[in-house]
Amino acid sequence: RQPIVAIDGPAGAGKSTVARQVAAQLELVYLDTGAMYRAMTWLVLQRGITLDDECAIAELADKYEIELTPTSNLQSPVKVWIDGNDVTQVIRTPEVTANVSAIAAQTSVRKSLVRQQKNWGKKGGLVAEGRDIGTHVFPDAEIKIFLTASVKERARRRQLDYETQGLSSINLKQLEKDIAERDWKDSTRTVSPLRKAEDAVELQTDGLSISEVTGKIVYQYQK
Ligand code: C5P
Repeated sequence: RQPIVAIDGPAGAGKSTVARQVAAQLELVYLDTGAMYRAMTWLVLQRGITLDDECAIAELADKYEIELTPTSNLQSPVKVWIDGNDVTQVIRTPEVTANVSAIAAQTSVRKSLVRQQKNWGKKGGLVAEGRDIGTHVFPDAEIKIFLTASVKERARRRQLDYETQGLSSINLKQLEKDIAERDWKDSTRTVSPLRKAEDAVELQTDGLSISEVTGKIVYQYQK
């Protein structure tokens, strides 16, 4: 199979933007696994299922596949569909963001989504981005990167993201709190917690531009 680039790291470390640039430069497919957990979360909320109803959530996770339509245009998002709905925009709302870690911590959800992710990886030629790609989904990926940045820097980046979506009223301190809370939930859950794979290269991205980070990853791939 073709090589796989695994990019993991906490919320707001710049994984999505960087992974897309890397995929475009290396002519590989970009796989946003966070979007898959977000789509499943949207469906759970839309059905009015409570987060502790593990049976109902497991049923949804078994039944629905998530469709991702890669775009070659770096400006427009990868399209995400679930149950016939284009959820590309709604999976980025604060409501989905606030609930996604709880859904992603459920074994049934991870089992179903990891199976779908592995299908994407069968032929390789992929830049996959998430929390457990190098440790769990593609442990044999040729290149593993762990992207980090301080909570302050990540909150500032998220605020910029929200501003571009027209949601400018989100307070920076609140964002820092939310990010720290999501870090804690993602790294302390029992199934596939967020952690750096032993053989991953760690990149601290505070103060680095997107193209600098992209360049460092492309260099790892080509060397
Ligand atoms: O990367 P993004 O912020 O879109 O991810 C949303 C959430 O999905 C994360 O906070 C995490 O709870 C979950 N996730 C995960 N495993 C992945 C990707 C995302 O648990 N591989």
